[in-house]
Amino acid sequence: MSAHRHTHAGPGFRSVDDHIATVAALFGPPRVITVPIADALGRALAIDVIAAVALPGFDNSAMDGYAVRSVDVVQATAATSVRLPVAQDIPAGRTDVLTLLPGTAHRIMTGAPLPLGADAVVPVEATDAGTDTVTIRESVPAGASVRRAGSDIEVGEPALPAGTVVTPPAIGLLAALGHAQVEVIAPLHAVVLSTGSELVAPGQPLAHGQIHESNGAMLCAALQSAGAMASLVHFVPDDVEQFRTRLDAIIDGHAASTPVDLIITSGGVSAGAYEVVKDALTGHGVDFVKVAMQPGKPQGSGHYTTVSGTSLPIVTLPGNPVSAQVSFEVFVRGPLRATMGLPARRRRTLATLTDALHSPAGTRQFRRGVLRAGPANPGRPGQHSDPDNHTATVVPIGPPSSHHLRYLASSNALIDIPADVVDLAAGDEVEVIVLDQP
Ligand code: AMP
Ligand code: MG
Repeated sequence: MSAHRHTHAGPGFRSVDDHIATVAALFGPPRVITVPIADALGRALAIDVIAAVALPGFDNSAMDGYAVRSVDVVQATAATSVRLPVAQDIPAGRTDVLTLLPGTAHRIMTGAPLPLGADAVVPVEATDAGTDTVTIRESVPAGASVRRAGSDIEVGEPALPAGTVVTPPAIGLLAALGHAQVEVIAPLHAVVLSTGSELVAPGQPLAHGQIHESNGAMLCAALQSAGAMASLVHFVPDDVEQFRTRLDAIIDGHAASTPVDLIITSGGVSAGAYEVVKDALTGHGVDFVKVAMQPGKPQGSGHYTTVSGTSLPIVTLPGNPVSAQVSFEVFVRGPLRATMGLPARRRRTLATLTDALHSPAGTRQFRRGVLRAGPANPGRPGQHSDPDNHTATVVPIGPPSSHHLRYLASSNALIDIPADVVDLAAGDEVEVIVLDQP
């Protein structure tokens, strides 16, 4: 299924792909920060890390045993053992430079520096473990059980290229190379602003007609799972003046501590009365459009400028919880991650639909689904392409309407139904977006 199938939308509607591009264009260039290496986890490296030291930094023992000259133990066997005086004891961490004299051994521990003149280590298991003299029952070739300086990485070799998403082993390598800090692409800080006079914070009692505010917590979690930082602002009532005053106060209030990079709102953008976001931001740098998509038709995006002149990207998501979350997935997650140098695209796969689905003409529909991996066997002879893709099934769950948060919460995939597809039968192949990270 190729991308161009999605790009045509009816008159008055923007296509999903066009709106993705619009949102992507809001973000500025990546910002680089220096962080302690422990805080670099999951961030993209902003610089090539080149080894400034070799690893290992010095020849050292790979075993607990005895450093020897291999020529001195060449005769050693179980029957004809070789006895050598033990001239030194070298635990790991000994820092003086030692020299092994011919015809002697040094007791040495794993990681301890090999004495000059030694070319091999006899493992303790092949000896009597003596401390004054040692009886050696096996010969060892030159180089045995020795970790050569630079055998892992040499000075000047590339260790981690810019763009690497930092993993725990990458943090280990940075530490081993002596870095306490590293330059990474900064996480973006998004403020989430929920609107709706009916909203009450979770944990508070509800009067008739009120609901618990769920988009704020959900979108903050979505932002964090995408690698961004999120602040939830207590929702604002459907009042244009209060909305804009609040928005300005938030942006300016964070300026000194954690500057805001992005505003995300939910609610107040559709076609009813009291559409506070739309009313407050129309004419203030934000475009409100209808996207040929379900859920998530009403969308807005642009740059909002505060009274004090700060201009920030803003994405206004619809209020229905499923619309808000699916819109985040489709429009915000990718561009946000790309700006942070992180892989932007969710994994997509083909799967066999288990039940028939109907989708409105001219609308790209994202239905909730449970994706099940196919059997591990590689498929029938003659079957082409990746067997994984062709044996997975997807079970559509829940109706299309956008208040069914329960079904979104138990899905692990979005079934991406192109705008020109109206009827799908059980057994049809569909493309799904895999929601395999939180
Ligand atoms: P709106 O887009 O403001 O017209 O809201 C559409 C629907 O989503 C209404 O049923 C709202 O009550 C609901 N809604 C809007 N914002 C939230 C929110 N933050 N949490 C839960 N439901 C919401
Ligand atoms: Mg509302």
